Amino acid sequence: MTYQHRDLDPTWTAETVAVQAGRPARVPGAGVNPPVHLSATYLHDTDLAYGRDGNAGWAALEDALGALDGGTAVTFSSGLAAATAIADLVPTGGTVVLPTVAYYGVLNVVERMAERGRLTIRRAAPDDTDAVLAAADGADVVWVESIANPLIAVADVPAIAAGARDRGALTVVDATFATPLRQRPLDLGADVVMHSATKLVGGHSDLLLGVAVARDPAIAEVLRTHRHDHGAIPGALEAFLATRGLRTLGVRLDRAEASAGELARRLASHPHVARVNYPGLAGDAQHERAKQVLRGFGTMLSFDVSGTAEQTEDFLARLRLVAHATSLGGVESLIERRARWAGDAGTVGPTLCRMSVGIEDVEDLWRDLDTALVDALS
Ligand SMILES: *Cc1c(COP(=O)(O)O)cnc(C)c1O
Repeated sequence: MTYQHRDLDPTWTAETVAVQAGRPARVPGAGVNPPVHLSATYLHDTDLAYGRDGNAGWAALEDALGALDGGTAVTFSSGLAAATAIADLVPTGGTVVLPTVAYYGVLNVVERMAERGRLTIRRAAPDDTDAVLAAADGADVVWVESIANPLIAVADVPAIAAGARDRGALTVVDATFATPLRQRPLDLGADVVMHSATKLVGGHSDLLLGVAVARDPAIAEVLRTHRHDHGAIPGALEAFLATRGLRTLGVRLDRAEASAGELARRLASHPHVARVNYPGLAGDAQHERAKQVLRGFGTMLSFDVSGTAEQTEDFLARLRLVAHATSLGGVESLIERRARWAGDAGTVGPTLCRMSVGIEDVEDLWRDLDTALVDALS
């Protein structure tokens, strides 16, 4: 089934594009939504021969995400599948600069490649631009998260991308926490942007899907070939759900971000909280940079409970609204103690809680956090 996408008006804002992109052309009788095409094979004779070659639903989502990020999008079965394909852009024997703290799954993928002798890794703190660029000398790829796990550090994407380009390296930005509505890394000089659409783009914790968006269509073609050859293709239903989730990204982000800012401010003066990391706080070390490189401060915050690891676990167990679970970006608020993960245990303290703020009423969220903190710690 071919899919004729509708044209977009270049004057529309990103919020409008998120609602309108990736829909069928407006011809009489056309659906307003893209199809969910469940077919493993197609009638000969076109380029679309088999289910691994393409799908109308992926094409719709790729139209939308490509338009939002300003490049050519390729969707994958998960964020990690996208990251794996992007990491494979590093030439054999090449060098990649990785952040010291980042989503540990992405670090794992690249570390395993290094263990096999496929490439060499250098490490630099993502918010230390000088260190990142010093490491970029002679490197092939510089990998950053625009807002980084789990300390919510903000990278200076324009400075890193410009410095990497001068040194002949590609810049890859994992913008999962920012989404295309809070940052367009390709406009800031990056070469490839990736998102785990499992998170804010999908928005309902009901699917896994990833996307890579490349400035250069030739790089997108390499990524598409990787997807085809390795088989890390998104499901047709997942692609539809991610497209549907994208429609409400603007309103979900606005609301969750406003709540995150309010909760961060209140937590910062809570007697049982030692420290809050949220770039929207005026006193946050990342505040000025975040104002320059992001259109908003996001829906993720982290904080240290002033107590022991056991008291922190007790606090999490007492929450009745916020769910004790990993992941982020859904309509429902989630929280977890990051040191529970071996990948984070070396880089964060035992009481650090990372919270993904959802779209529940902010006063309900606050009462839940405050009551559980007081009950667990007094
Ligand atoms: C979740 C996540 C990933 C991995 O995405 P999956 O869809 O879970 O495979 C990559 N980067 C960041 C920043 C993430 O939060």
